[in-house]
Amino acid sequence: MDLQFGNRVVVVTGGSSGIGLATVRMLLAEGAKVVTCSRDWEKLERSVSDLEASGLRTDDNLLAVSCDVTDEVQTIALARQVRARFGGADVLINNAGQGRYSTFETTTDEDWEAEMRLKLYSIVRPTRALLPMLRESDRASIVVVNALLARQPAAHMVCTSAARASVLNLVKSMSFEFAPAVRINSVLVDSVNSGQWERRFAQRENKQQSKEEWLRALATERQIPLNRMGLPEEVAAAICFLASPVSGFTTGASLEVSGGLSKGV
Ligand code: NDP
Repeated sequence: MDLQFGNRVVVVTGGSSGIGLATVRMLLAEGAKVVTCSRDWEKLERSVSDLEASGLRTDDNLLAVSCDVTDEVQTIALARQVRARFGGADVLINNAGQGRYSTFETTTDEDWEAEMRLKLYSIVRPTRALLPMLRESDRASIVVVNALLARQPAAHMVCTSAARASVLNLVKSMSFEFAPAVRINSVLVDSVNSGQWERRFAQRENKQQSKEEWLRALATERQIPLNRMGLPEEVAAAICFLASPVSGFTTGASLEVSGGLSKGV
Protein backbone atom coordinates (compact mmCIF):
# COMPACT_ATOMS: atom_id res chain seq x y z
CA MET A 1 0.00 0.00 0.00
CA ASP A 2 1.36 3.44 -0.92
CA LEU A 3 1.01 5.59 2.20
CA GLN A 4 1.50 8.73 0.08
CA PHE A 5 4.17 10.32 2.25
CA GLY A 6 6.40 11.28 -0.70
CA ASN A 7 7.88 14.75 0.01
CA ARG A 8 5.40 15.30 2.85
CA VAL A 9 6.86 16.86 6.00
CA VAL A 10 6.28 14.93 9.23
CA VAL A 11 7.31 16.08 12.72
CA VAL A 12 7.89 13.25 15.22
CA THR A 13 8.34 14.15 18.89
CA GLY A 14 10.41 11.76 21.01
CA GLY A 15 12.07 10.43 17.88
CA SER A 16 15.36 9.32 19.43
CA SER A 17 14.29 5.88 20.64
CA GLY A 18 11.58 3.23 20.83
CA ILE A 19 8.27 3.90 19.09
CA GLY A 20 9.30 7.38 17.90
CA LEU A 21 12.51 6.16 16.28
CA ALA A 22 10.71 3.23 14.61
CA THR A 23 8.20 5.75 13.23
CA VAL A 24 10.98 8.01 11.92
CA ARG A 25 12.51 4.98 10.16
CA MET A 26 9.24 3.97 8.55
CA LEU A 27 8.46 7.51 7.40
CA LEU A 28 11.91 7.99 5.83
CA ALA A 29 11.55 4.63 4.07
CA GLU A 30 8.18 5.87 2.74
CA GLY A 31 9.81 9.00 1.26
CA ALA A 32 8.75 11.58 3.86
CA LYS A 33 10.85 14.50 5.04
CA VAL A 34 11.11 14.04 8.80
CA VAL A 35 11.74 16.34 11.73
CA THR A 36 12.77 14.39 14.83
CA CYS A 37 13.14 15.89 18.29
CA SER A 38 13.85 14.98 21.91
CA ARG A 39 15.66 16.49 24.91
CA ASP A 40 18.97 14.58 25.08
CA TRP A 41 20.99 15.89 22.12
CA GLU A 42 23.66 13.15 22.25
CA LYS A 43 21.06 10.38 22.18
CA LEU A 44 19.27 12.14 19.32
CA GLU A 45 22.54 12.45 17.39
CA ARG A 46 23.22 8.73 17.90
CA SER A 47 19.80 7.90 16.45
CA VAL A 48 20.53 10.11 13.44
CA SER A 49 23.87 8.32 12.92
CA ASP A 50 22.02 4.97 12.98
CA LEU A 51 19.58 6.25 10.36
CA GLU A 52 22.51 7.41 8.26
CA ALA A 53 24.26 4.03 8.63
CA SER A 54 21.13 2.21 7.48
CA GLY A 55 20.98 4.43 4.37
CA LEU A 56 17.67 6.08 5.30
CA ARG A 57 19.06 9.56 5.76
CA THR A 58 19.86 11.65 2.69
CA ASP A 59 21.07 15.26 2.58
CA ASP A 60 17.64 16.84 2.62
CA ASN A 61 15.20 14.45 4.30
CA LEU A 62 15.93 14.78 8.03
CA LEU A 63 16.14 17.57 10.59
CA ALA A 64 17.00 16.80 14.23
CA VAL A 65 16.13 19.38 16.88
CA SER A 66 16.76 19.36 20.61
CA CYS A 67 13.41 20.23 22.20
CA ASP A 68 11.52 19.64 25.43
CA VAL A 69 7.99 19.41 24.07
CA THR A 70 6.44 20.58 27.35
CA ASP A 71 8.21 23.93 26.99
CA GLU A 72 6.36 26.63 25.08
CA VAL A 73 9.44 28.60 24.00
CA GLN A 74 11.20 25.45 22.76
CA THR A 75 8.17 24.23 20.79
CA ILE A 76 7.81 27.63 19.13
CA ALA A 77 11.52 27.46 18.22
CA LEU A 78 10.95 23.93 16.85
CA ALA A 79 8.14 25.20 14.61
CA ARG A 80 10.38 28.03 13.36
CA GLN A 81 13.10 25.53 12.42
CA VAL A 82 10.57 23.35 10.60
CA ARG A 83 9.37 26.39 8.61
CA ALA A 84 12.92 27.52 7.83
CA ARG A 85 14.11 24.08 6.70
CA PHE A 86 11.09 22.57 4.96
CA GLY A 87 8.69 25.51 4.47
CA GLY A 88 5.84 23.88 6.41
CA ALA A 89 4.51 20.65 7.90
CA ASP A 90 1.79 18.17 6.89
CA VAL A 91 1.79 15.78 9.83
CA LEU A 92 2.56 15.91 13.56
CA ILE A 93 3.19 12.76 15.59
CA ASN A 94 2.89 13.61 19.31
CA ASN A 95 4.81 10.66 20.75
CA ALA A 96 7.25 12.03 23.38
CA GLY A 97 6.76 10.88 26.95
CA GLN A 98 7.08 8.13 29.51
CA GLY A 99 5.00 6.43 32.19
CA ARG A 100 5.16 6.87 35.97
CA TYR A 101 4.81 4.04 38.48
CA SER A 102 2.94 5.06 41.64
CA THR A 103 -0.21 4.17 43.56
CA PHE A 104 -2.63 6.73 44.93
CA GLU A 105 -0.94 6.59 48.34
CA THR A 106 2.59 7.05 46.98
CA THR A 107 1.72 9.85 44.52
CA THR A 108 2.64 13.28 45.87
CA ASP A 109 1.19 16.58 44.66
CA GLU A 110 4.47 17.22 42.84
CA ASP A 111 4.08 13.86 41.04
CA TRP A 112 0.51 14.73 40.02
CA GLU A 113 1.58 18.12 38.72
CA ALA A 114 4.58 16.71 36.82
CA GLU A 115 2.54 13.93 35.26
CA MET A 116 -0.40 16.10 34.20
CA ARG A 117 2.06 18.65 32.85
CA LEU A 118 3.98 16.05 30.80
CA LYS A 119 0.95 14.27 29.38
CA LEU A 120 -1.09 17.39 28.55
CA TYR A 121 1.57 19.89 27.50
CA SER A 122 3.43 17.30 25.39
CA ILE A 123 0.30 17.38 23.21
CA VAL A 124 -0.88 20.96 23.69
CA ARG A 125 2.40 22.79 23.03
CA PRO A 126 3.65 21.08 19.84
CA THR A 127 0.09 21.09 18.47
CA ARG A 128 -0.37 24.81 19.15
CA ALA A 129 3.04 25.64 17.64
CA LEU A 130 2.55 23.57 14.47
CA LEU A 131 -1.20 23.98 13.86
CA PRO A 132 -0.87 27.09 11.64
CA MET A 133 1.45 25.12 9.29
CA LEU A 134 -0.76 22.01 9.37
CA ARG A 135 -3.73 24.17 8.40
CA GLU A 136 -1.86 25.17 5.22
CA SER A 137 -1.55 21.52 4.14
CA ASP A 138 -4.17 19.81 1.96
CA ARG A 139 -3.75 16.51 3.85
CA ALA A 140 -2.93 17.46 7.40
CA SER A 141 -3.13 15.05 10.28
CA ILE A 142 -1.99 14.56 13.86
CA VAL A 143 -1.42 11.25 15.61
CA VAL A 144 -1.17 11.10 19.40
CA VAL A 145 0.65 8.19 21.02
CA ASN A 146 -1.47 7.46 24.07
CA ALA A 147 -1.67 4.42 26.35
CA LEU A 148 -4.27 1.70 26.85
CA LEU A 149 -4.28 3.02 30.45
CA ALA A 150 -6.55 5.79 29.15
CA ARG A 151 -9.36 3.22 28.87
CA GLN A 152 -8.11 0.56 31.28
CA PRO A 153 -6.54 2.23 34.32
CA ALA A 154 -3.98 0.47 36.52
CA ALA A 155 -3.70 1.00 40.28
CA HIS A 156 0.12 0.90 40.11
CA MET A 157 0.15 3.74 37.53
CA VAL A 158 -2.58 5.86 38.99
CA CYS A 159 -1.58 9.35 37.84
CA THR A 160 -0.42 8.18 34.39
CA SER A 161 -3.81 6.47 33.93
CA ALA A 162 -5.74 9.61 34.90
CA ALA A 163 -3.55 11.82 32.70
CA ARG A 164 -3.89 9.43 29.75
CA ALA A 165 -7.70 9.43 30.11
CA SER A 166 -7.69 13.22 29.91
CA VAL A 167 -5.58 13.05 26.72
CA LEU A 168 -8.10 10.66 25.14
CA ASN A 169 -10.83 13.17 25.92
CA LEU A 170 -8.70 16.07 24.62
CA VAL A 171 -8.05 14.32 21.29
CA LYS A 172 -11.81 13.88 20.77
CA SER A 173 -12.42 17.60 21.41
CA MET A 174 -9.62 18.58 19.05
CA SER A 175 -11.01 16.28 16.33
CA PHE A 176 -14.23 18.31 16.29
CA GLU A 177 -12.47 21.68 16.45
CA PHE A 178 -9.85 20.91 13.77
CA ALA A 179 -12.17 19.19 11.24
CA PRO A 180 -12.31 19.23 8.30
CA ALA A 181 -8.84 20.79 7.82
CA VAL A 182 -6.81 18.61 10.17
CA ARG A 183 -7.52 15.01 11.22
CA ILE A 184 -6.41 13.81 14.64
CA ASN A 185 -6.35 10.22 15.91
CA SER A 186 -4.56 8.27 18.59
CA VAL A 187 -2.98 4.89 19.21
CA LEU A 188 -3.48 3.28 22.63
CA VAL A 189 -0.30 1.40 23.39
CA ASP A 190 0.62 -1.18 26.01
CA SER A 191 3.52 -3.61 26.55
CA VAL A 192 5.74 -2.53 23.67
CA ASN A 193 9.45 -3.21 24.09
CA SER A 194 11.09 0.24 23.88
CA GLY A 195 13.55 2.47 25.72
CA GLN A 196 11.23 2.54 28.75
CA TRP A 197 11.40 -1.25 29.05
CA GLU A 198 15.20 -1.23 28.47
CA ARG A 199 15.45 0.90 31.61
CA ARG A 200 13.19 -1.51 33.56
CA PHE A 201 15.23 -4.49 32.30
CA ALA A 202 18.40 -2.86 33.67
CA GLN A 203 16.68 -2.61 37.08
CA ARG A 204 15.42 -6.26 37.16
CA GLU A 205 15.84 -8.24 40.39
CA ASN A 206 17.25 -11.44 38.81
CA LYS A 207 20.36 -10.23 36.99
CA GLN A 208 20.93 -13.77 35.60
CA GLN A 209 17.82 -13.43 33.43
CA SER A 210 18.53 -12.67 29.74
CA LYS A 211 16.54 -10.00 27.89
CA GLU A 212 14.55 -12.66 26.01
CA GLU A 213 13.73 -14.59 29.20
CA TRP A 214 12.74 -11.37 30.97
CA LEU A 215 10.47 -10.30 28.10
CA ARG A 216 8.85 -13.75 27.92
CA ALA A 217 8.23 -13.78 31.69
CA LEU A 218 6.77 -10.26 31.47
CA ALA A 219 4.34 -11.29 28.71
CA THR A 220 3.20 -14.31 30.77
CA GLU A 221 2.86 -12.27 33.95
CA ARG A 222 0.84 -9.58 32.14
CA GLN A 223 -1.37 -12.26 30.50
CA ILE A 224 -1.01 -10.70 27.07
CA PRO A 225 -3.34 -12.69 24.75
CA LEU A 226 -0.79 -12.60 21.89
CA ASN A 227 1.72 -14.02 24.40
CA ARG A 228 4.63 -11.65 23.73
CA MET A 229 5.69 -8.04 24.10
CA GLY A 230 5.09 -5.81 21.09
CA LEU A 231 7.68 -4.28 18.79
CA PRO A 232 8.08 -0.52 18.26
CA GLU A 233 7.69 -1.18 14.50
CA GLU A 234 4.21 -2.61 15.14
CA VAL A 235 3.12 0.67 16.71
CA ALA A 236 4.91 2.69 14.01
CA ALA A 237 2.83 0.88 11.36
CA ALA A 238 -0.42 1.89 13.11
CA ILE A 239 0.83 5.48 13.52
CA CYS A 240 1.81 5.76 9.84
CA PHE A 241 -1.56 4.37 8.73
CA LEU A 242 -3.47 6.94 10.83
CA ALA A 243 -1.13 9.75 9.72
CA SER A 244 -1.44 8.89 6.04
CA PRO A 245 -4.12 10.10 3.60
CA VAL A 246 -5.11 6.44 3.13
CA SER A 247 -7.05 6.79 6.41
CA GLY A 248 -8.52 10.08 5.15
CA PHE A 249 -12.08 9.45 6.46
CA THR A 250 -10.90 8.71 10.01
CA THR A 251 -10.69 11.36 12.72
CA GLY A 252 -11.27 11.31 16.50
CA ALA A 253 -10.55 7.57 16.53
CA SER A 254 -8.27 5.55 18.79
CA LEU A 255 -6.61 2.31 17.75
CA GLU A 256 -5.40 -0.17 20.38
CA VAL A 257 -1.96 -1.70 19.83
CA SER A 258 -1.59 -3.81 22.94
CA GLY A 259 -1.46 -7.50 22.01
CA GLY A 260 -5.14 -7.85 22.89
CA LEU A 261 -4.81 -6.69 26.54
CA SER A 262 -7.92 -4.54 26.46
CA LYS A 263 -10.92 -6.03 28.28
CA GLY A 264 -13.27 -3.44 26.79
CA VAL A 265 -15.68 -4.24 23.97
P1 NDP B 1 11.18 5.56 24.86
O1 NDP B 1 11.68 5.89 26.22
O2 NDP B 1 11.92 4.58 24.03
O3 NDP B 1 11.01 6.91 24.00
C1 NDP B 1 10.55 8.10 24.56
C2 NDP B 1 11.03 9.25 23.69
O4 NDP B 1 10.42 10.47 24.15
C3 NDP B 1 12.54 9.46 23.73
O5 NDP B 1 12.98 9.88 22.48
C4 NDP B 1 12.69 10.59 24.77
O6 NDP B 1 13.94 11.27 24.58
C5 NDP B 1 11.46 11.43 24.39
N1 NDP B 1 10.97 12.36 25.41
C6 NDP B 1 10.54 12.09 26.67
N2 NDP B 1 10.14 13.20 27.27
C7 NDP B 1 10.30 14.22 26.38
C8 NDP B 1 10.08 15.62 26.42
N3 NDP B 1 9.58 16.23 27.51
N4 NDP B 1 10.35 16.36 25.31
C9 NDP B 1 10.85 15.76 24.19
N5 NDP B 1 11.10 14.44 24.10
C10 NDP B 1 10.84 13.69 25.19
O7 NDP B 1 9.70 5.05 25.12
P2 NDP B 1 8.50 4.62 24.14
O8 NDP B 1 8.91 4.51 22.75
O9 NDP B 1 7.84 3.46 24.79
O10 NDP B 1 7.51 5.86 24.36
C11 NDP B 1 6.83 6.53 23.31
C12 NDP B 1 5.45 6.92 23.81
O11 NDP B 1 4.65 5.73 23.97
C13 NDP B 1 5.45 7.63 25.16
O12 NDP B 1 4.53 8.69 25.15
C14 NDP B 1 5.00 6.53 26.10
O13 NDP B 1 4.45 7.00 27.30
C15 NDP B 1 3.99 5.79 25.21
N6 NDP B 1 3.65 4.47 25.70
C16 NDP B 1 4.53 3.42 25.57
C17 NDP B 1 4.19 2.18 26.06
C18 NDP B 1 5.11 1.00 25.91
O14 NDP B 1 4.72 -0.11 26.31
N7 NDP B 1 6.30 1.16 25.34
C19 NDP B 1 2.90 1.94 26.73
C20 NDP B 1 2.06 3.08 26.78
C21 NDP B 1 2.42 4.30 26.28
P3 NDP B 1 14.57 12.21 25.72
O15 NDP B 1 14.40 11.49 27.03
O16 NDP B 1 16.00 12.40 25.31
O17 NDP B 1 13.83 13.50 25.68
